[in-house]
Amino acid sequence: MGSKPHKLHIYFFPMMAHGHMIPMVDMARLFARHGVKATIILTPLNAALFSRTIERDRETGLEISIRLINFPLVEAGLPEGCENLSSVTSREMSPKIYKATELLQEPFQQLFEEDHPDCLVADLFFPWATEVANKLGIPRLVFYGISAYALSVYHALRCHKPYQHIESDSEDFIVPGLPDTIKLTKRQLPDHMREGTENHLTKMIEKVIKSELSSYGVVINSFHELEPAYSEHFRKVLGRRAWHIGPVSLCNRDNEDKSCRGNQTSIDEHECLTWLASKKSNSVLYVCFGSLSRSSTAQLLDLAMGLEASGQQFIWVVRKEKTEEEWLLEGFEKRLEGRGLIIRGWAPQVLILDHEAVGGFMTHCGWNSTLEAVTAGVPMITWPLFAEQFYNEKLVTDILRIGVGVGAQEWCQWPDDSKVFVKKEDIEKAVTRLMVGEEGEELRSRARALGDMAKKAVEKGGSSYSNLNALLEELKLKCP
Ligand code: UDP
Repeated sequence: MGSKPHKLHIYFFPMMAHGHMIPMVDMARLFARHGVKATIILTPLNAALFSRTIERDRETGLEISIRLINFPLVEAGLPEGCENLSSVTSREMSPKIYKATELLQEPFQQLFEEDHPDCLVADLFFPWATEVANKLGIPRLVFYGISAYALSVYHALRCHKPYQHIESDSEDFIVPGLPDTIKLTKRQLPDHMREGTENHLTKMIEKVIKSELSSYGVVINSFHELEPAYSEHFRKVLGRRAWHIGPVSLCNRDNEDKSCRGNQTSIDEHECLTWLASKKSNSVLYVCFGSLSRSSTAQLLDLAMGLEASGQQFIWVVRKEKTEEEWLLEGFEKRLEGRGLIIRGWAPQVLILDHEAVGGFMTHCGWNSTLEAVTAGVPMITWPLFAEQFYNEKLVTDILRIGVGVGAQEWCQWPDDSKVFVKKEDIEKAVTRLMVGEEGEELRSRARALGDMAKKAVEKGGSSYSNLNALLEELKLKCP
């Protein structure tokens, strides 16, 4: 009798942020469906957000589980319960989270050596993971959580620094050396890049780049057909080994999977679906700015007024606490009953985007949200705030032409409470452009075509499906 073929065992270790854990847990589930034994490393509070999903997968026979690692809260000077970037409430707390990620090296190494998996997929925020894996001769793959396009823009900016000789903050400059003409302004870049200063993040980025160069390669939550020129650029010009294996959100097939994805939702799934079912196709705008954004009170007020003035139907996800509702126009919710649904807290985003009543998405252009909109075939109103979101806006509006910009001009992660970045008139204009008339229809039909390509990519024989199989075959050869 021949011996059983070796089943690959892969560790998945995401950064403690929804925008990283959600896609990496989906990725682990995808790998498990391709016959891998998948182990996801999470801290206790974060594990609780995913345990039901993983339990459901195990019930279907997949070999997937969570292993806990304690988050060094006390050592990093963080308060009880702060195990996630979305629990950070002040600018001063951010470096402490990054400190905690450094302190995870020792306990992680212990787990890793004990279990000795065949491969490690670890987040960019753990640059030390490459060394830990290399010591045992285990390949480490890097997960950035962004596209090959954004990685290419980032490398071009870092290498050429085209903003350095630009006087004005609002003057356009071209990012050189890329397949398309991408124009940005200095105001759309992070402070540290614009000012050439160092902080905890820039120091970490240097380590990240170094560690990537000695790692096995990069796994990308995107699909080749979405960004063929950048998929090529990343490999051929930047010389990286990379596998496009997404969109990973497509592993959520039924409503329960889609609605319990990465957090407890603040609205009942059935209530949400009943509300949407009462609306015509493509008549609802979904408004959500991800898991980390902080809007000023003044900005929320202008957004409320812009949405009201547009006359369109919408679902609006608001992250503000209930006690901070002074931003709501007097009687706003009552007046717009039936037309506008406000979700305070966490929305079942993929469930909403996939509903046929949804015809547009006002988004901060976080990569997951952008890709989820593409996958659902929904065009976007782009409102970037920080991180690489201004680059993503250009992909959506100028390259793919599946969205309109709202007119955001300034990179800002911690806005003053009185600051208005986009005025209500501009919001109203963008909503009307997308939701009413011919231009919106054109954007929608291009978005739909991309959505079809996304679904094909992960089906048997599709590009992402084949890429994942090729990666697994290669890994199997390394550990027979
Ligand atoms: N998300 C969600 N409900 C919400 C807010 C966010 O399901 O109310 C999910 C969204 O579907 C996406 C992730 O959280 O998968 C956010 O990631 P993204 O990269 O878009 O933005 P970030 O939160 O990292 O800024």
